[in-house]
Amino acid sequence: MASAPVPAPVRVRFCPSPTGNPHVGLVRTALFNWAFARHHKGTLVFRIEDTDVARNTEESYQQLLDSMRWLGFDWDEGPQTGGPHAPYRQSERMDIYRDVVAKLLDRGYAYHCYCTTEELDERREAARKAGKPSGYDGHCRELTDEQIAGYEREGREHIIRFRMPDHPITFTDLVRGELTFTPENVPDYGIVRANGSPLYTLVNPVDDALMEITHVLRGEDLLSSTPRQIALYAALAEIGVGGGTTPHFGHLPYVMGEGNKKLSKRDPQSSLNLYRERGFLPEGLLNYLSLLGWSLSADRDIFTLDEMVAAFELTDVNPNPARFDLKKCEHINAEHVRRLDVKAFIEACGPWLKAPHAPWRPEAFDQAAFEAIAPHAQTRLTVLSDITANVDFLFLDEPVDDETSWQKAMKEGSEALLRNVRAKLAGVAQWSAEPLKAAVLAAGEEHGLKLGKAQAPVRVAITGRTVGLPLFESLEVLGRERTLARIDAALAKLAGCEGA
Ligand code: GLU
Ligand code: ZN
Repeated sequence: MASAPVPAPVRVRFCPSPTGNPHVGLVRTALFNWAFARHHKGTLVFRIEDTDVARNTEESYQQLLDSMRWLGFDWDEGPQTGGPHAPYRQSERMDIYRDVVAKLLDRGYAYHCYCTTEELDERREAARKAGKPSGYDGHCRELTDEQIAGYEREGREHIIRFRMPDHPITFTDLVRGELTFTPENVPDYGIVRANGSPLYTLVNPVDDALMEITHVLRGEDLLSSTPRQIALYAALAEIGVGGGTTPHFGHLPYVMGEGNKKLSKRDPQSSLNLYRERGFLPEGLLNYLSLLGWSLSADRDIFTLDEMVAAFELTDVNPNPARFDLKKCEHINAEHVRRLDVKAFIEACGPWLKAPHAPWRPEAFDQAAFEAIAPHAQTRLTVLSDITANVDFLFLDEPVDDETSWQKAMKEGSEALLRNVRAKLAGVAQWSAEPLKAAVLAAGEEHGLKLGKAQAPVRVAITGRTVGLPLFESLEVLGRERTLARIDAALAKLAGCEGA
């Protein structure tokens, strides 16, 4: 699709609240901002929205940075990078907000609201019954000095509200086109709490103005705050805060989970940590997340981040809700695992070959054996954590003990077959996959079994499992001695069973 001209220089921001483990919706937002900035050779500002002290901890801040680094994002301004608009943690910018609020109050763009929660609830309920808009009714807009003095004497607390203009607000969303909000639907809103702490509604647009953000790309859940922010921008321009321009807004589609409900933070599928722990590759996960609202082309859903950056246009973002599909996410990841060069694959598996993931004794691990089997594993993994179970037969003293697999593979006649297989394997001159296969094939034929059927008890004897890597390559890497010993152990077990 042809792209609308985007004026240079582009400045976008990614500005999460550091509340624990990031969810995939947040990562999708970060990705689209990052791709947009890189496509336009613009600037990506990373800002931490941590003014809500109750919900933010140093630990979750560190977790967030760690997650962004793991995903491979870089930013031009922000924590650890610095920049001309530092500091980039809102908790360190409180003086700035206090100053802006004083100016807004002074010029009448904001006012004190003394309404109690009970009063607000009561009036909201009454408005609802009367079929009127039930937002804030402007009660404290024009209080007299006397009324204010009265409230103060009563010891009432106040919040600070922004005064919305009385005209409709229209803007062209970069994803959804022209949108208009009427004043009844956008009432005056709180910008400072009763305890004096500034709210997201204030600090987010104030920092976007001060940091000269040109494009705000964020989730559709924030669409209702956009007319408020546009009005606040106009006030900020009047009081001389920021560059005096309003950014363009683009709202990214909702991400739906199971049962066509919005994917929520509580959904296990939404947790970034889950993908890390399962061994997704960052490029695989990001490739999938890019498809939640965007596509490279109709016939290609596997691509690199570089390809995404080269092609990324906001005009191609689809406003319709996107469905999160874990199966597809896994499939795309598997494709990225296959695309790694084998050395990179071996390295990426590293963490899963050690404690706490690996069940074998550390000294039993043999790097050369792993490297020999790795190419066979690479084409079969969905996620890197699968590697452990695929290669454990090489490093455990004995194969895993899985009764279900054993029952499934060991049939009547298996003992005789295994005895024959053992004899033929023992006679193989050169211990490599081809002759090993020929030996099992020949043994199977003598028992009237095709290769697949003949392999099954051998596989369980060697690995403990009914499925796994190609059997003959596995035997080759395991070696003659250990292979024969495992068949002997299985034969002993079978003899024991029959005796019982
Ligand atoms: N801190 C806000 C959030 O995480 C940012 C919203 C925005 O992009 O404006 O929801
Ligand atoms: Zn009020």
